[in-house]
Amino acid sequence: MTTSEVVIIRAPGAPEAMELSTVTIEPPGPLEVLVRHTAIGLNYIDTYHRSGLYPLPALPHGLGVEAAGVVEALGANVIGLELGQRVAYATAGPGAYATRRVVKAEQLVPIPERVSDEVAAAALLKGMTVEYLVRRTYPVRAGETVLWHAAAGGVGLLACQWLRHLGVRVIGTVGSREKAELAQQHGCDVPILYKEVGDLSEKVRSLTAGAGVSVVYDSVGRATFQSSLRSLSPRGLLVSFGNASGKPDPVDVLALAAHGSLFLTRPTLAHYTRDRAELTSSAAAVFELVAQGVLQPLIGQRFNLRDVRRAHRELEGRQTVGSSVILLD
Ligand code: NDP
Repeated sequence: MTTSEVVIIRAPGAPEAMELSTVTIEPPGPLEVLVRHTAIGLNYIDTYHRSGLYPLPALPHGLGVEAAGVVEALGANVIGLELGQRVAYATAGPGAYATRRVVKAEQLVPIPERVSDEVAAAALLKGMTVEYLVRRTYPVRAGETVLWHAAAGGVGLLACQWLRHLGVRVIGTVGSREKAELAQQHGCDVPILYKEVGDLSEKVRSLTAGAGVSVVYDSVGRATFQSSLRSLSPRGLLVSFGNASGKPDPVDVLALAAHGSLFLTRPTLAHYTRDRAELTSSAAAVFELVAQGVLQPLIGQRFNLRDVRRAHRELEGRQTVGSSVILLD
């Protein structure tokens, strides 16, 4: 009998809603794989699933969407994977806060030899997010200036590194002086403290000779949405991709005209990894840049599965920097 320690919620709520329990796992069915996790990636989306902002399909339910580990059993008709192989996933849906999990083979990507399990868990989902945002949602060009919110976070630091590699100038917002310094070390050209800047869009205009930026990547949501709109140049694009401060208020469509015939998109990773080809190409781009040293995920926090409540409190309390991982023995 195979068992797994899993974190579940019975109802949406605060971090205390999460509980650890031991469950029996059925052997993997056709096209499925049993993975023993070694490192779990912590992502802000986990807090949305826990709080109910993003409703789960049923309750009780597991949480966590990203992990790395080892193939422990193969279901029928799985090709291209072997027992003992190191694999990772980021698009299999909530349930990754667990010591073991059965996952569809099509969701798994092999971890290259030069990449450790904890780095894979720290970089895969966040790196694929940066990949689609800077290459496909808005293909940035060398010499351009972009505004990136939460630049010292998990996605934020990887974005700074990737954009530096592409020759893009990054104006990044951060919540503290320490985070400003960190973002700068990772490629943010102009870190801005939201609290000290006053009117963010005026600051962005002063840094761009009055023009504004052609794209804003905004994962903070409600608190920054309006200033993001005002920071854009005519026909610029607001990429609203997260809600760390809450869901943005409804948008007045005419405001897009008033601020310069703007574009607005609300993308999610799932729609940019719609099939196996998109998933493997995005993951390969991330792992390639990690192997080259262009992407160097900063693991700012390491937790045990038992510490998951504290992990969520720190993430939501803006106390984390870079990526956070849960390590398993
Ligand atoms: P982060 O490590 O970036 O943590 C969130 C950060 O947001 C905080 O550290 C904090 O940084 C900032 N923040 C600003 N205002 C608040 C607030 N009121 N409460 C809490 N945090 C705040 O998390 P991730 O790297 O995991 O994710 C970053 C964002 O990207 C999230 O919003 C997430 O939902 C989104 N995302 C979206 C994806 C998509 O495909 N749409 C995929 C992956 C992530 P500071 O103190 O510096 O402001």
